[in-house]
Amino acid sequence: MERAKKSSAEPIVNAMSVDVEDYFHVSVFDGIVPRTEWDAMESRVCTNTERLLDIFDEYSVRSTFFVLGWVGEKYPALVTKIAARGHEVASHGYAHRLVYDQTPAAFRDDVRRAKALLEEASGRPVVGYRAPSYSITPRSLWALDVLIEEGYQYDSSIFPIRHDRYGIPVSDRQPYRIDRNGGSLIEVPGSTTRLGPMNLPVAGGGYFRILPYKWTHWGIRRVNEQEGRPAVFYLHPWEIDPDQPRLHAGRLGRFRHYRNLDSTEQWLRQLLSDFRFQPMQALVNDARLAFAQDSRFALSLPYSW
Ligand SMILES: [Zn+2]
Repeated sequence: MERAKKSSAEPIVNAMSVDVEDYFHVSVFDGIVPRTEWDAMESRVCTNTERLLDIFDEYSVRSTFFVLGWVGEKYPALVTKIAARGHEVASHGYAHRLVYDQTPAAFRDDVRRAKALLEEASGRPVVGYRAPSYSITPRSLWALDVLIEEGYQYDSSIFPIRHDRYGIPVSDRQPYRIDRNGGSLIEVPGSTTRLGPMNLPVAGGGYFRILPYKWTHWGIRRVNEQEGRPAVFYLHPWEIDPDQPRLHAGRLGRFRHYRNLDSTEQWLRQLLSDFRFQPMQALVNDARLAFAQDSRFALSLPYSW
């Protein structure tokens, strides 16, 4: 109770993040829309991202945009605009390939190419990375070494949950520092809440769209008030676009992608008025300061690779 009172007096500022990709880039449509056909698809990413920029302006929110390199290459003016309107540009890799499906050399090319393209278009250093479908798992931890070597300073790809395609359930739920021979990296996981023995995602993506808004509201409040920590929220530009062309994935894929698209903008507006948000970079800076002052916060992953 003491803690809850303190938090309501000084509202915690959470992190807002957007994975900038088109509706046909999503992993669930891999194999349905081959990469060779991406260029020929109707693109809606610029319109949807600009709509998000306008909504964020209305609520005076600054966000991090993890932009897919392919999008940044095709629409550099979009990246320039994101940066010019005061947001952080970070990297979602180049070609939206799952990390654990790539060789370390191919992954290095992918993240290097995306970083260079996005830095050129934004005119700023790009230091954050988020993997397609959170695909840094026990099978692809080598990717963290590559990210450090390629000049990335933080990563937001390790989800501490059980999921059919991603997640490391035993990994820490709060930001932590990963020290390797080549340097160190701050890992900033997407937010979860602890319920019994389980970590349940509470801040974004399908969980925001498919479950009622009150789930996200309850979860973020719980992270803020019980743990006294900021939450990390994420969404995609296609999630506020109910008119996007329908693609034919399997039943589960269709449910995950199309459910409640027509309500998401309204829920996002509710979220932006209920909580405060800032870019990921601000959380990373706070985490770095905390780690410098108290080494207990500098956790290692509970396994080696
Ligand atoms: Zn993605």
